[in-house]
Amino acid sequence: MTRSSQRMLIIGLDAADPALIEKWSDAGILPTLQHLRSKGAWIRLNHGGEFSSASIWPTIFTGTHPGKHGIYHTVPIMQGDVSFGNLKPEQCGQPPFWCDLERQDKRCILFDIPFSYPRADLNALQISDWGSYERFAPPSSSPGEALTDIVQRFGAYPFAEEMVRDVPVSERDFCRTRAQLLAGTATKGRVVKWLMSNRPWDFFMAAFGEPHAAGHYFWQFHANNHPRGFSHVPREFATTIQDVYRAADRELGRIVETIDNKTTLLVLSGQGLGPNYVGWHLIPEVLTKLRLTVGNQAHGNPVRIDWLAKLRSLLPSQWRRSLSRYLPNGVRDYLRLRWAASNIDWSQSQVFDLPTDSLGFLRVNLKGREPNGVVEPGKEYDDLCQRISETLKQLVNPRTGKKIVREVFFTEHVFPGPERNRLPDLMICWEDDEAIDEAQLDEMRRIRGNLPDARSGNHNPHGFALFYGPGVGGGQASEGHIMDIAPTILSYFGLKPPTYMDGKTLGGTISFAYK
Ligand SMILES: [Zn+2]
Repeated sequence: MTRSSQRMLIIGLDAADPALIEKWSDAGILPTLQHLRSKGAWIRLNHGGEFSSASIWPTIFTGTHPGKHGIYHTVPIMQGDVSFGNLKPEQCGQPPFWCDLERQDKRCILFDIPFSYPRADLNALQISDWGSYERFAPPSSSPGEALTDIVQRFGAYPFAEEMVRDVPVSERDFCRTRAQLLAGTATKGRVVKWLMSNRPWDFFMAAFGEPHAAGHYFWQFHANNHPRGFSHVPREFATTIQDVYRAADRELGRIVETIDNKTTLLVLSGQGLGPNYVGWHLIPEVLTKLRLTVGNQAHGNPVRIDWLAKLRSLLPSQWRRSLSRYLPNGVRDYLRLRWAASNIDWSQSQVFDLPTDSLGFLRVNLKGREPNGVVEPGKEYDDLCQRISETLKQLVNPRTGKKIVREVFFTEHVFPGPERNRLPDLMICWEDDEAIDEAQLDEMRRIRGNLPDARSGNHNPHGFALFYGPGVGGGQASEGHIMDIAPTILSYFGLKPPTYMDGKTLGGTISFAYK
C-alpha cells in the first residue's frame, strides 16, 4: 500500500476571539491571518451558550457534546459523593479523533492540546502540558524522551503559573505576565517548527495558549473599562491582547512558510473572549433565600464562604498575597467548595450550586443519584427545574432594571447521553452587557456581591475555523459548530465519521482535494 501524501496541520489559537481576528486582520495588523483568510475558508463556529469553557476542547476533539464526553469544568462534582475534585483529562468519556487516524496508519504528532493527555494505546508523538494555559498535571509525553528533548533544547515554558484570580494584582504582576506571554508565544512557535521538521507526520496538531491567558487578564486594559486598582495604565497593557495576537500571527507565518502544497492548514479557536460579566457568585444566596439550599443548623448559612479571605485576614499583610499565589486555582476552588458543601443540610436541600467561573451550574439533590437525595426523579424533578429556571430568568439588576440571566439550559434536553449524570442539571448563561453585582429576587429581597474573580475577561460562544490549502475554496460567510471539527478532519482523510459523533462534516466552501 502506498502512503497518501496528504497531510493536515492544525494550529489552535486557544480562545482567540474571531471578532478581534477579523478586525485586526482586515486592518493589516495580523498579516498572516489576513493572507490565510483571503485565500482560505473562514468559518465562524457558534453555539447557543450551553457549552462551558472546559467542554470546548473535548467537544472539538471527540466530535461529541458533554452528555457523551462528560467534561464541563476543571473542578467537577464527584459521582456518588457530594465533593469536588480537580479534573483529570483521562475522565473524558470519548476517544479523540486522532485514535481513528492512527488506526488508519496516519502518523500523528500532538502537542499541548488543552484537556488532552498522552495515551498509552497510541504510537503518536504526544506532548501534554508543557505550555498549555490550563494545566492538569506536570508536563508529560509519550514516548517519555520527547519531553526531555524539548526541555533540553528549549527550556521550560516561560509562562509558568497562572495569575491569582481572587486577589487584586499589581502592575508588576501584569508586566511579568505580559513578558512571559510574549516569550511563551515565540518559544511555542519554535518548538512547533522543530517538531514539524524533526520526524515525519500525516497529522500534526498544536495549540498556543497565550491568546487565552491574555484575554482573561488584559481585557480590562484592552477595553479601557476602569481597571481595578489602577490610576495610570501603562500603554503596553492596553495593547497586550493585540501584541500577543500579533506574536501568534508572526509564529503562524513562520510555520506556514514551511508547509508544502500537500498540506491543509486549519487554524482553530473554539471560543472567544469578552468582558467577565457573570453572576454565578450571587447564586448560592439566591438558592438559600428561596430555601432550595438549606443550611446546616450547626454551621449556619451554606452560602459559599470565602475561606481564603478569612484566612488571609488573620495573616500579616506581607504574607497575604503569597498565600493564594502558591495555591493553584483548582485547589482553591476545591477547598472553598468543600467548606460550602459541609454546611448544607442535605435532608432539606433540593438544589445546590457547583464550582464555576463562568456559566452557573446547579445540581438537583436527586434521589438515587446523590448520597442524600430528596427530589424524586420524574415529575418532581421536572417541575423543580422548571420553577428554578423561571425564577432565575426573572432576576433583574435593580441598578439598571435589566435581566441578568439570558438563558437556563436543561442538561436533560441539551446534553442527553451516557455521561449526563456527571454534569450539572441546569446551566445558567448570563446577559453580558454589564457587570452583575446585584440581583432583585422579589420586592423585598436583593442580593449583592462583587465578582470574586480578578480576571477581567471571560468567554463568549464564538470561535472560528480557518482552512487553507489545496482543495480549500475561498469563502468568508459560512458557519459551523465546534462539534463539526472532528468529523470534518476524519472526512478529509477519507474516513467515515463514527455514528456516535454529534457534529457534521463542514461542506460548502471547503472541498477537499482528496475525497
Ligand atoms: Zn478561559
